[in-house]
Amino acid sequence: MDIIAQSTNASPVPCIFCEIVAGRAPASIVHEDDRSLVAATIGPVNPGHLLVMPKQHAPYLDDLDNRMVAHLFTVAKRSATAIRRSGLRCEGINLFLADGEAAFQTVFHLHIHVFPRFQGDAFKIEADWSVKPSRAELDRVAAQIRRQYRHLNEVAHDPHR
Ligand SMILES: [Zn+2]
Repeated sequence: MDIIAQSTNASPVPCIFCEIVAGRAPASIVHEDDRSLVAATIGPVNPGHLLVMPKQHAPYLDDLDNRMVAHLFTVAKRSATAIRRSGLRCEGINLFLADGEAAFQTVFHLHIHVFPRFQGDAFKIEADWSVKPSRAELDRVAAQIRRQYRHLNEVAHDPHR
């Protein structure tokens, strides 16, 4: 049993990103401010693959207020520009946010992946790209989501929420 598990016997296993934020776990840090931290992932798609995380623990996107989300995406944009200018191989950039286990989230402390891409690299998103729904089907799906979107607008008393 490792030291962390022993010392927090009654608690759940500590969140690895909270441990990094607290300085208790090693990380190769690119940027840190009062609300966020950017570090190189230990499982890079390509060299230069970064993770942008809030310092507060929040499992899912909906757990963060809009100000924090805006901050994280601003930091992600700046990280992308820094990767492009770094001299690392980079012909394009992907931002990837996994919200939920079915969406390939594996660490439940929300984070945005920012990683360089180049022709012929190994990253793939597998899907059936041949499916082309009719306009009527697209309209139906859009209407179904639009109902909820409008509802969210109505309940948003706090403009930042
Ligand atoms: Zn955490």
